[in-house]
Amino acid sequence: MKKNKPQSTQDMLTEEELRMIKKSVDSDREQRRRLAHYDNSDKAKLVRYVKKNRIFAVVCVILIACVIVTLCLCAAFVIKKMANRENKDDFTIILGDDSYTAKYKDIMRDGILYVDMRRIAEYTGLTVTGSATSVKFTYDDDNYLRFENGSDEAVINGNMVELGGTATVTARICEIPYDFLTKAVGDGLKFTLDRTTNTVKIQRRMYATEDDDVFIPKEIHFYSDAFTVLMGITQVDDDYKYEYSIDVSAFLSSIDPDNAEDYLILANKQNPLGADYTPTDLKSLEINPNSSREMNLRSDAATALSAMILAMRADGITDVFVTSAYRSYSYQEKLFEGYIADRMESGMTREEAEAAVLEFSARPGTSEHQTGLCLDFMTTQMSDLDESFEETAAFRWLSANAHKYGFILRYPSDKVSTTGYKYEPWHYRFVGRNAATEIYESGICLEEYLELN
Ligand SMILES: [Zn+2]
Repeated sequence: MKKNKPQSTQDMLTEEELRMIKKSVDSDREQRRRLAHYDNSDKAKLVRYVKKNRIFAVVCVILIACVIVTLCLCAAFVIKKMANRENKDDFTIILGDDSYTAKYKDIMRDGILYVDMRRIAEYTGLTVTGSATSVKFTYDDDNYLRFENGSDEAVINGNMVELGGTATVTARICEIPYDFLTKAVGDGLKFTLDRTTNTVKIQRRMYATEDDDVFIPKEIHFYSDAFTVLMGITQVDDDYKYEYSIDVSAFLSSIDPDNAEDYLILANKQNPLGADYTPTDLKSLEINPNSSREMNLRSDAATALSAMILAMRADGITDVFVTSAYRSYSYQEKLFEGYIADRMESGMTREEAEAAVLEFSARPGTSEHQTGLCLDFMTTQMSDLDESFEETAAFRWLSANAHKYGFILRYPSDKVSTTGYKYEPWHYRFVGRNAATEIYESGICLEEYLELN
């Protein structure tokens, strides 16, 4: 509206104009009144509306919240699933400076990761003994692990515990759960598993010596503390103290026979066997490499010998053979009389000849070979049966292992006065595993053993 300020009569409003202005002002008031009314009415409507629909609104808000939460959970699940997606790549097993690759499916079974204990033993220098189906890993007398093929149990220092998986033992591998090993080994080894790269790292822990520059591997200790012991240390498995290098299960009933006393016959100069003493269970030697000659021993002795020769062969000794086994009274008599006759022909009296022959040959009936329980070894490098056998790998092997197969060195160099025979490194006698082990461990000879028992 035009701004008019009445200042003179010329400026005074006419009646008509004043009426119009009043009307207009009234109209504005009415409009404001109406507007105000309408505003109040809308607010009230809205309040009523809101009140009426509050429950609906709350339900809506809850539903929307639910949808949001569900979406968030789904997203988290997908992210987690993607993060946890199992890496099925080949594994790299790092042992010290060496490493090898293993296929996922070969070493991951039923969610359990397996490692090859034979390889770890090679890396850590553990002694491996046993057979193709049962293996023992030794650090020292108090620290060893034992596994059986197909077994879900293991032995830690004599205590039987749950393996947490199933061992696979063959002549080449010994697969055991990785988790078992990490729990059984003390701080001598450090284990690292990385599933993002499928890497298993096993390292020997080292410690610095006094001059700091020299690092020495820590000792390896095995512990059963982290396991529930199923069977205590008192349950000693007898076979394991013998540590065979082949599976002897098929030979054991002969190596360690029930009738062991039958094999403790004493035949020496003071205790001759009669002319009619002939074993009834002689058996031809089935395994005698490098020899085609037919030879016999009593059945159990022959079987135990087979095991021993197979074990020697497994340990790389292939040049050994049996040159003499059972000899009958009549054969010994023929030999002995032949030697005497030779010497008597060259002018000796019967007495002189006998004295000379007894230096190297037994009088009939006093030869232990008549028992069918002993034998003489030679190697293909030897031309005669003599003390040079002592220089062979076969002799060194026998010196350490023969007792495990039931054999003893019958005429040791320090027992000449007791046995009545000079040192014979080649002559081995079967007495069964128990007696052989006792004789071996206490450093006695058969005469002394029989005296004590
Ligand atoms: Zn002999």
